[in-house]
Amino acid sequence: MNVLVINAGSSSLKYQLFQMQDESVLAKGRVERIGMETAIITHEPTGKPDVHEVSEILEHTTAIRRVIEMLVHPVHGVLTSTAQIDAVGHRVVHGGESFKQSVIVDEAVKKEIKRLFDLAPLHNPAHMLGISAVEINMPGVPQVVVFDTAFHQSMPATAYLYPVPMALYRKHKVRRYGFHGTSHKYVSERAADFLGRPLEHLKLVTCHIGNGASCAAILGGLSVDTSMGMTPLEGLMMGTRSGDLDPAIVPYAMGKEDLTLSEVSSMLNKHSGLQAISGISSDMREIVEALEAGDKNATLAFDMYEYRLRKYIGAYAAAMNGIDAIVFTAGVGENSELLRKTVCQQLSFLGVEFDEEANQKGRGLERRISKAGSKVEVLVIPTNEELVIARDTYELVQEKVD
Ligand code: ADP
Repeated sequence: MNVLVINAGSSSLKYQLFQMQDESVLAKGRVERIGMETAIITHEPTGKPDVHEVSEILEHTTAIRRVIEMLVHPVHGVLTSTAQIDAVGHRVVHGGESFKQSVIVDEAVKKEIKRLFDLAPLHNPAHMLGISAVEINMPGVPQVVVFDTAFHQSMPATAYLYPVPMALYRKHKVRRYGFHGTSHKYVSERAADFLGRPLEHLKLVTCHIGNGASCAAILGGLSVDTSMGMTPLEGLMMGTRSGDLDPAIVPYAMGKEDLTLSEVSSMLNKHSGLQAISGISSDMREIVEALEAGDKNATLAFDMYEYRLRKYIGAYAAAMNGIDAIVFTAGVGENSELLRKTVCQQLSFLGVEFDEEANQKGRGLERRISKAGSKVEVLVIPTNEELVIARDTYELVQEKVD
């Protein structure tokens, strides 16, 4: 069975085609600048040269049509006909309280995703466009939705409620949902496998640190707390997002700087974090380069980023009464030796014995970066959200057929 995984954003769309018998990737790519006359499609078929094309792609239906054309193209393609795409899996950011796991798309599911537009106004509408575009281009092909929030639905009320009037929760569903669930679930399962210990007996802190960043406390395989909240703004300091702050800053800054609600929201989401403090970049690579060259603002930005992450690890050790392993993943977590080293060297009170040499080796591989015998293990596990989406899609569609 071949499964096409789609991550549709408002102006871009990423795809990966999996052959599920051996979980190999047949092709992947992305369409950028949807809505423009100069949209770019980048197609990377396995074993063949990459293709870059610029053309007018005004909406998602055309974007999906172009993707299918690439996949069955006589030269750049990897399939002989569209009929070889057996199922499609979509990433959906917000599943609210309705979706605790992945589901096959039907009318009721689409209605519920639309009802959740309010909670994820930037993301869920784009995912719906992706789902409709597949219906139009591949009628009858089963579709599955995999939610970023679903894995965190196991959190207890003590972790997911905010201490504000309960009417906000009852009437408007204001609560912590958490995000990056697909990644936290994947790396926690891989960590148990790597350690050769049952997940049910492990206390893990998983750190998904990319452009967006979140930590999760995973007890016996279940998420019991996570740093992102009702939206992906809460928690850790990120590339351009502030993470945690005193909520009283919002009305204060609006008054002093004469900002509207949308301006203050844009400030906290797009002009804060590493970017704001360093004044250089939201990209950790550039921050590290600048701090190595002695830039004071880059050093402060790095120190704040690291400090806030370390505090969350400490908090989750308290939440679970201990930790067996800390897992680093995503762009920064997988690649920044300096960040992992700075965080871990100050966690010796928990029983972390950091292995500096191991930290510098094996990029791209699952590995241990704590010393043998360390009370708390530290692992680097490359994440693979697309594979999880493909697996969930495959399983649900197989069940339906059986
Ligand atoms: P996204 O949240 O967009 O999926 P990724 O998980 O791909 O993001 O992470 C992207 C980030 O990873 C980049 O912004 C960059 O800061 C960081 N990154 C990538 N490579 C390195 C590296 N070698 N050192 C430090 N940071 C890196």
